[in-house]
Amino acid sequence: MKRTSGSDRSLTSKWRPATRAVRAGTMRSEHGETSEALFLTSGYTYDSAETVAARFRGDASGMQYSRFQNPTVAMLEERIAAMEGAEACKVQASGMAAMTSALLCMLSAGDHVVAGKAAFGSCRWILANVLNRFGITHTIVDGRNNAEWEAAIQPNTKVFFFETPANPTLDIVDLAYVCGLARAHGITTVVDNAFATASLQRPLEFGADVVAYSATKLMDGQGRVLAGALCGSSQWINEVLSPFQRNTGPVLSPFNAWVVLKGLETLDLRAHKQSENALAVGRFVESRVARVLHPGLPSFAQHELAAKQMDAFGPIFSFVVDGGREKAFAVLDALELVDISNNIGDSKSLACHPASTTHHNMGPEGRADMGVDEGMIRINVGLEDPLDVIEDLDQAFSKAGI
Ligand SMILES: *Cc1c(COP(=O)(O)O)cnc(C)c1O
Repeated sequence: MKRTSGSDRSLTSKWRPATRAVRAGTMRSEHGETSEALFLTSGYTYDSAETVAARFRGDASGMQYSRFQNPTVAMLEERIAAMEGAEACKVQASGMAAMTSALLCMLSAGDHVVAGKAAFGSCRWILANVLNRFGITHTIVDGRNNAEWEAAIQPNTKVFFFETPANPTLDIVDLAYVCGLARAHGITTVVDNAFATASLQRPLEFGADVVAYSATKLMDGQGRVLAGALCGSSQWINEVLSPFQRNTGPVLSPFNAWVVLKGLETLDLRAHKQSENALAVGRFVESRVARVLHPGLPSFAQHELAAKQMDAFGPIFSFVVDGGREKAFAVLDALELVDISNNIGDSKSLACHPASTTHHNMGPEGRADMGVDEGMIRINVGLEDPLDVIEDLDQAFSKAGI
């Protein structure tokens, strides 16, 4: 493989974000292909026994096995790291493989985690159903409340784990404050940045230690593959995460890595355009529905904080219709253009009812505590003309009697 300007950090670090998304990490084979090559191989061959022995000893670089490294996967890792402004990145088979690996690789029995209340359902599930079985305890806080983060710190607290904006209430965590607090106490922050991506928000600039992704969402952006990513210091990635990952195996397939690489080429464009569309749709919904949770709207309680830490507000927002589940279902069932789907980050507009899908497992009390109302609908605004999405919602609201 030949390195290109895209694999030279001293150059990519000077490039603007949109340029990094298109070119960072690119390497080329002897054919000089324009598009990144797909190396669909599990193993590698060597010109001598000593060549491979040196690689296993760690005395020479080079591929050994695709659970350890793969050229297509390596290109994706370098691109995401450059976009994030991180020293290093490793990718995983799904967002949840990334979250589970991030926590398990650095926590031990007796450790304690503080996590934000509003979160992707499975993130809460691994705290309560996996980590607790190994003697790792946790405290759930309202991520919007800085004082709760501080009050939850114990002598054995090792990790702060949260997402911002959070699913599905769009709660915003004050990145500068919470990451600063963690630093002062020697606590590692793991920030799930799936709703924003590096195009809209870079948590490392606010002092986060690890940025975690479901790359299934905006990074792929076209609803094709599952993928995850973790970004952090070279020391954490190479000495803590990599040994865990290469021995436990939640690695990303080279094919899926290739799909995400191609998705990233348009990420900056999509993330900004979908944010713009979501704001237009949000303004319309606000004219028809009393409660709209959209960080980009001045009516949103944490609008100013969101504006301080995000370049734009992303494609996803939620709103609550009067009349509970029945009315929310009536709106969803009346949609003609927007699909009923629990996925997000797609270039197609998608809507779902969190209480009966993504947050069903939490039970009614858990949902009430998180603010997941029975009348809540979450929408991902895609790349369609926003006027068509608005007209579709307009007719669906009318049919549902709103
Ligand atoms: C989707 C999602 C995940 C899980 O990612 P998968 O790729 O589905 O495993 C985690 N966190 C957030 C915020 C998500 O939206």
